[in-house]
Amino acid sequence: MSASFPEQSVAVLFSGGDAPGMNAFLRAIVRLGLNREKIAVLGIRDGYRGLVRTARAVNDDPEALVRLKQDIASHTGRAGLISEQLHIIQMDHASVSGIMGKGGTILGSARCLEFHDKKVRDSVIKLLKNLNVRALVVVGGDGSLTGAKLLAEESDLRIIGIPATIDNDLQFTDMALGVDTAVNTLVWAVDHFIDTARSHRRVMVLETMGRASGDLARMAGLASGAEMIVTPEAGALNEEAINKLAAKIEGAMTRGRGHAIVLVAEGVEFDPPQKRNRAYVLMDAFQQYFQRAGAPFPDLEVRPSVLGHLQRGGHTTPQDCLLAARFADCAWNSIQQADGGSGITALRKNVIEIVPYGEPDMPERADFSREMERLHDDLSSW
Ligand code: ADP
Repeated sequence: MSASFPEQSVAVLFSGGDAPGMNAFLRAIVRLGLNREKIAVLGIRDGYRGLVRTARAVNDDPEALVRLKQDIASHTGRAGLISEQLHIIQMDHASVSGIMGKGGTILGSARCLEFHDKKVRDSVIKLLKNLNVRALVVVGGDGSLTGAKLLAEESDLRIIGIPATIDNDLQFTDMALGVDTAVNTLVWAVDHFIDTARSHRRVMVLETMGRASGDLARMAGLASGAEMIVTPEAGALNEEAINKLAAKIEGAMTRGRGHAIVLVAEGVEFDPPQKRNRAYVLMDAFQQYFQRAGAPFPDLEVRPSVLGHLQRGGHTTPQDCLLAARFADCAWNSIQQADGGSGITALRKNVIEIVPYGEPDMPERADFSREMERLHDDLSSW
């Protein structure tokens, strides 16, 4: 006999760029729901898009709504996950088994431009109410959490945001889900590139993700021992600034250094602006500098690499799994509080707490960035 549709539930979705730790979070929110809170968890496929499509199909059709509830009840867990048409799946224990360390998200993540439209968000609120959803948990980066904030403002539903982005560009939390794994991957990548850099006495310029923030590059640079970190916070790079960086590398070579790894964050801008990837722009500019008339190392080679989505996937680190479990625990505690309201889980000084949407930037985050830069300089052998 098939299960019945849950009288009340909490829904969870993953939105925007995927981040390692999303699956670990799904496992934690489902297991805590089933084991501790005795509340069903509905997994939404493909982020806001899954809700928008379902709302469009059932909101004005009571029979379609009844059929949807029957489908959800008769395709729980893995049966729901393999049924591509179903965008809402009642999760069970087995459906989240063996996923903790896997990157990405088994529920899928997506971008959904329509969600900028209030009417579309209203239709989603109506759908969630029709399905007796008590709270919606939104896991994602800056954009996804902006969508969550709007839902919280425009409805009386509890909307809990979970920061998940490898960029670490959310200034209200020390860490977001996925950052630790991405830093690990970058350190691994630097370790590989350094073999060639040493063997061929080369300069390798590696471009990292991070959007407008340099934190990912800074953390990876500090943890890997990369010789130079170029971040957006220092302002747009003009010819003079680029030549200064090149001169620094050349100076180190003059003192006997054989190679250099340069991490450049994707948010770095140039003056005048450049369309190509940062790693390629720096490669050409450095190469030109090293080959100027009378230069001491005209044969010094520069090679670029844009690390791209390599940084977003892969095995989730224990730190990210731990953070996922703690965020899920905090989300449930907030949902279960009678006067809890909506908000985002945040890690601050190793305490997980709920902060309101639109919380101002923590000054500690800027201090942390500066501390990393200072430490990198102090640890340098240049
Ligand atoms: P991330 O969450 O990783 O920062 P995006 O910025 O692409 O990724 O945002 C993911 C999704 O969140 C968007 O496709 C959209 O559905 C929703 N979203 C982003 N910004 C807004 C906004 N201002 N209003 C409503 N929804 C938004």
